[in-house]
Amino acid sequence: MSPPSAAMYNPQVMPAAFLAAPAHPDEHLLDLYALGRLDSSEEARIREHLMICDDCCLHLCNTTEFIAALRARFKQPGGA
Ligand SMILES: [Zn+2]
Repeated sequence: MSPPSAAMYNPQVMPAAFLAAPAHPDEHLLDLYALGRLDSSEEARIREHLMICDDCCLHLCNTTEFIAALRARFKQPGGA
């Protein structure tokens, strides 16, 4: 995960669809969304963004898979 670079905000390198999308929510917010820990207004904002943003959908997809894997792991007793 690299910090956003200046190039990301250069209109010449941004595809048109990306320009139409509002700013990406913080990855931390996406994580909280995946965990269901956001309040309803924040959650609605993220959901709206996800409908138009493949990048964040992908991030969320990876996050939910990660969380599911993590939870599955914690459920295993002892690990033996
Ligand atoms: Zn996004």
